[in-house]
Amino acid sequence: MRGPQTASTLSRRALLGLAAALPLVQPLRAQDIPSETDVAVIGAGMAGLAAARLLRERGLRVVVLEARQRLGGRAFTDAARLGFPVDLGALHLRSVELNPLVPLLRSQNAAAEMEDGDFWLFEPGRDAEPGDYDSLGADLDKLDDALADAKSARQDRPLAALVSLDSRWADAAKGLAGPLHVGLDFPQLSAFDTPRLSGTGRDLWLPGGLGSWVAGLGNGLPVFTGQPVHRIEWSDRGVKIAHAGGVLEARACIVAVAPGVINANGIGFSPEQPAARREALSRLQIGVIERVLLRFKPGSFDAVANTQVYGPSTLNGPPVARQAMLFRLNCQNRSVVQASFGGSYARELAKEGEAAMIAAARARLKLLMGNAADDGFEDAIASRWSTDPFSLGSHSVIRPGASGVRRALATPMGRVLFAGDYIAPADWLGQLPGAWLSGRDAAQTAIRMLG
Ligand SMILES: Cc1cc2nc3c(=O)[nH]c(=O)nc-3n(C[C@H](O)[C@H](O)[C@H](O)COP(=O)(O)OP(=O)(O)OC[C@H]3O[C@@H](n4cnc5c(N)ncnc54)[C@H](O)[C@@H]3O)c2cc1C
Repeated sequence: MRGPQTASTLSRRALLGLAAALPLVQPLRAQDIPSETDVAVIGAGMAGLAAARLLRERGLRVVVLEARQRLGGRAFTDAARLGFPVDLGALHLRSVELNPLVPLLRSQNAAAEMEDGDFWLFEPGRDAEPGDYDSLGADLDKLDDALADAKSARQDRPLAALVSLDSRWADAAKGLAGPLHVGLDFPQLSAFDTPRLSGTGRDLWLPGGLGSWVAGLGNGLPVFTGQPVHRIEWSDRGVKIAHAGGVLEARACIVAVAPGVINANGIGFSPEQPAARREALSRLQIGVIERVLLRFKPGSFDAVANTQVYGPSTLNGPPVARQAMLFRLNCQNRSVVQASFGGSYARELAKEGEAAMIAAARARLKLLMGNAADDGFEDAIASRWSTDPFSLGSHSVIRPGASGVRRALATPMGRVLFAGDYIAPADWLGQLPGAWLSGRDAAQTAIRMLG
């Protein structure tokens, strides 16, 4: 299926993007991992890289241990399989005016483009009319208002109990707010803990891939890849970390791995984590959003870059929230269609494997776009965030009624600190800027701790 990508089919911009997506970081050799350091950072996603950069700037010795053979965690640009860079995880820097990563991006002169694609809605058998867009928009506003109100009134209840939607687009709105927002089915959403739907509406995407940019933040840092950490012995004096290549002793450590991985005992602790922390982890619901990227012959879809397409899940029925699937035509200005889906539906498909995910995405695209979905199809790839042992999901939201436990997740254990998008400031929970802020926060705490 995979055809050669000839130079003539690559635009100048695509070539520039490809250059930007080439690996920036030379892997260090496992035998060079020191046996002791000031601060060990576990995980080279955004949070771990942010922590390591700040610790380095402040003159501390730091070692980063990363399980995968690549950097960036849930921000991942695949530059190889479709012949040009495509993001399988994080895609946007949202709310440009407020996003704390945007000044960093600008200072590096990294290429970035404003998201300005259209939004197309389909009803079974017909294009949507202006009233349909209004109706879906009104339902989304209702959900967003309920999320905002619950936060200010500290109302820790299921979102479903606080809003009733009865328009014909109600399920489409629930699909956008649940599976496609935090990777959970709508009934599972906590009104208090689920981030709001709206931002400033001005988002950036990167032609070279957001994942490549995140990985590049590890440039020059002592990151050792292929080094899963199995066990951490901790106390008030220091830590001893067992990793694939041996044992590292550190005065402090920052665990910057996804909470689902800690929850599944991906890392064992001795002594065990305190009861309050274990309780808090057990109250986290791990959501998942998966992506399928379908490559087509150039010009297959007459749409501006990043045009979003949303519509029914079956030929005859209305949209089904659980099976919501959102498409982006000419995604990242390439001849690629990105399909996103989440929640229990995504988990089921991911278990069946990449071929099943691709088949489901193609079938649904055909429902909306007709034969155009078959004619120019060339190749496809899919993410596997839910089955990858180093992420085991994509997002996390506390169960309704238990949001008080979130604070326990950020509480240090002796000289072990935690960082990640799940313990970020509320406005940036579950996003790259949240992971960045949380990593820097943990680094500042480590600096104070070590005097
Ligand atoms: C499909 C999808 C779409 C998204 N869209 C956006 C978006 O548009 N904008 C946005 O801002 N955010 C988005 N996000 C969220 C964003 O990707 C995350 O918030 C962010 O990447 C989390 O960073 P982190 O450092 O906290 O965790 P991670 O990125 O998960 O990093 C943790 C690191 O720890 C490593 N690790 C795990 N276990 C071990 C171990 N035992 N030993 C050593 N290392 C280990 C992992 O390999 C990983 O590199 C999206 C995420 C997904 C999955």
